[in-house]
Amino acid sequence: MIKLKPARDKSLRRHHPWIFSGAVASVSGKPKAGDTVDVVSADGKPLARAAYSPESQIRARVWSFDAAREVDAAFFRERVTRALALRESLPAAKHSNALRLVHGESDGLPGLIVDRYADVLVAQFLAAGVERWRDPILDALAELSGCEAIYERSDAETRKLEGLKPKIGFVRGNRNATRCPIIEHGLNFRVDVEQGQKTGFFLDQRENRQRVRTLAAGREVLDGFSYTGGFAIAALAGGAKRVCAIESSRDAIEIARENLAANPLDASKVEFIAADVFAHLRKLRDQGAHFDLVVLDPPKFAPTAAQAKNAARAYKDINLLAFKLLRPGGLLATFSCSGGVDAALFQSIVAGAALDAGAEAKIVERFGAAADHPVALEFPEGEYLKGLLVLKT
Ligand code: SAH
Repeated sequence: MIKLKPARDKSLRRHHPWIFSGAVASVSGKPKAGDTVDVVSADGKPLARAAYSPESQIRARVWSFDAAREVDAAFFRERVTRALALRESLPAAKHSNALRLVHGESDGLPGLIVDRYADVLVAQFLAAGVERWRDPILDALAELSGCEAIYERSDAETRKLEGLKPKIGFVRGNRNATRCPIIEHGLNFRVDVEQGQKTGFFLDQRENRQRVRTLAAGREVLDGFSYTGGFAIAALAGGAKRVCAIESSRDAIEIARENLAANPLDASKVEFIAADVFAHLRKLRDQGAHFDLVVLDPPKFAPTAAQAKNAARAYKDINLLAFKLLRPGGLLATFSCSGGVDAALFQSIVAGAALDAGAEAKIVERFGAAADHPVALEFPEGEYLKGLLVLKT
């Protein structure tokens, strides 16, 4: 049992699922990592049942705010059933066979991420609680999704914070999974679930790639941080005049080229450049290059607020260069997936970049993550991806 310090039960009463070590007055019963514990307030009132994680600053993650709730295989089956039902109801389920099926805390399964790539699931167990229940969870996923193969990518840094070692490999079924073919809005992509970044593909950007596709006709497009070509190929499919895609990972570019070839598009219009975006944008500026649509989708510069200052400098740098490269009337689709930079801060960084570039610009649309990445209202941390569509006038 975990007893909280006086007045440290506020966030739990709002149903936020995290219990930080600093809020814990005492732990009784010698629970081990992943064990289910009762959580009570300082005056002994039952508040929740949670998974105990002795090594993490997030000392426990709540399974249920019903203090009498049994946490067993049936509990996980029910949570997985609910998560899958939500995805089946989404419009994306009709045009894409790659979806996020479980989005951690927001699906009532703290620390669990599951992405579906056609008939292969990729699972990440990122907290002690879901690690403890991995077998019932995997059984429920296999049975309810109908996917026979499940690949584990529990190699994210956050696992270390939970005192867990990395784990990768097939946990159900087996097959070659370095090029899982998926379809997104009618476009073909190959996903390397074994070596690719995260679980292999950035599903959160699905609808934003589609939006960029509808904006690309006749435009010269720059795709910065292009990974396996998601935005570049969407832009080409939307009728872009030409696309310049910049990405530092040669492995990602190799797949990007395969993705381009897997679609009935004029591949000669796309140039993939293996380079650092910061340096290459400067080079393009110095060459006097110009574009009509620029996409910037960098990696997480600030995982937490502690890195926000350095991240802000990096975001400002690339956005400033993008404004210089844009022709008047051009569009900038600019993103941040940093948890440590919120939407208001990101907007002010982009505003500062426009100002310093001497550009007049307006926000014409805002972007977020696709609906298969829901955000539980009581868990605002679940909202990490934000983006702006900015028109340079
Ligand atoms: N837009 C992509 C996802 C981008 S993820 C999509 O829709 O699929 C961010 C990418 O930036 C990663 O592929 C990473 O390899 C790349 N990257 C990180 N730092 C970079 C840098 N300094 N220059 C170029 N690419 C970089």
